[in-house]
Amino acid sequence: MGDHSVEPTPGAYGVWYAYASGENPEINKKINDQLENGRAFDSPFMYELESMLNSAEEELADSTMEAGEQLSGKMDNVIELIASVTGDTNRFGKSMQGVSDALTSEISAADLGQVVETIVAATKQMETRSRELEEKLTESKSEVEELRGNLAKARSEALTDQLTGIANRKAFDEVLLSAVAEASQNGSDMCLAMADIDFFKKFNDSFGHQAGDQVLRLVGRCLSNNVKGQDTPARYGGEEFAMILPCTAIDDAIKLSNHIRETVKSRELVKKSTGQNLGRVTMSLGVAQFEMGDTPATMIARADAALYEAKEQGRNRVVAAGSAAAAAPAQASA
Ligand code: GH3
Ligand code: MG
Ligand code: MG
Repeated sequence: MGDHSVEPTPGAYGVWYAYASGENPEINKKINDQLENGRAFDSPFMYELESMLNSAEEELADSTMEAGEQLSGKMDNVIELIASVTGDTNRFGKSMQGVSDALTSEISAADLGQVVETIVAATKQMETRSRELEEKLTESKSEVEELRGNLAKARSEALTDQLTGIANRKAFDEVLLSAVAEASQNGSDMCLAMADIDFFKKFNDSFGHQAGDQVLRLVGRCLSNNVKGQDTPARYGGEEFAMILPCTAIDDAIKLSNHIRETVKSRELVKKSTGQNLGRVTMSLGVAQFEMGDTPATMIARADAALYEAKEQGRNRVVAAGSAAAAAPAQASA
C-alpha cells in the first residue's frame, strides 16, 4: 500500500487483504491490470475496489435473506394447502352426515344404519385429526414469522455500526448510491459532508481507546440528533463520519455542518470510569454539492478534498468543495 501511496483507511486495508488472500479473483484482476498499466491507486479507484468488495459481501448476505424469504414463502403455501384440505374434509363430513340421514330414514335396516354410523364416526375422527394438524401448522406459521423477524433484525444489524448505532459503511454506500441516482434523475439538490475528528490519535494516546470510543459515540449522537428525517448520518470508518443530505442546498449543508461542529466542540468530556476531565474535541468537515454527472466516487473525492483543505487550514472548520467543472479552489467558510 505504501509503494502505491494508498491512504491507510480501514476500507483500503480490506481491499489489500482481499488481494493478498486471493479470495476475490475480480479484485485481483482489477488491481493487476492497474499495476500493469502503471495507473495510480487514487481515491476514485480505491472507492471502486471497496464497492466491489462490499457488493460481493452484500451478495452473500442477500442470498441468506433470499433463502429465508423462500423458506417462509414455501411455508405459507403449505399452510394454504393444508387449510384447503381441512375444508375438504369438513365438507366430506357434512355430506357423509347427509347420506347417513337419508339412509336411516328411507331404509330402516339395522345393518345399514350400523354401517353408516361407523362411517360417520370415522369421519369425525378424521375431522379431529385435521384440526390437530391445523393447530400444529398454525404454530409453525408463528415460528416462521418469528424467523422472518429475526432476518429483518439481522439485516438492520448488518447495516448499523455497532459502536455508535448509526449507519455503517455498507449502509452509507447503499444510501449514497440511491441519493446520487435520485439527484441525477430529478436534478434535485443533494450534498455530502465528510467529517474527521481532529488530533484523535493524540486523544487516544493520552486517555486510552475506551475514552476514544466514548468520543466516537458522542459524535454519532451529535450527528443523529441534528439531522432531519431523510438525511443519513454514517460512520464512514475509524474516526471518520459522513452525512448524506438529499434535497439540501450547499449553504444549508454548510450551516448544518457548522452546527454539528459547534455542538461537538461545546461538549466537555469526562472519563466515565474515573470522572477525569478530558477537555474537548473538535472536528473538520468537507462538504460537496451534487453536480450532474457525479458518481458516489466523484462526490466522495470532492468532499474528501475539501476535508483535507479544512485540515490544512488549521482544523476545526468547514470547507465547501469547489465545483468539479470549474476546478475552482475550495473556499473556507468556518
Ligand atoms: P487529524 O487531525 O489530521 O485527523 O489527526 P488524527 O490524529 O485524528 O488523524 P490520524 O489519522 O493520524 O489518526 C486517527 C486515529 O483515530 C488513529 C486511531 O487512534 C483513532 N481511531 C480510529 N478508529 C478508532 C476507533 O474505532 N476507536 C478509537 N478509540 N480510536 C480510533
Ligand atoms: Mg482520519
Ligand atoms: Mg482525525
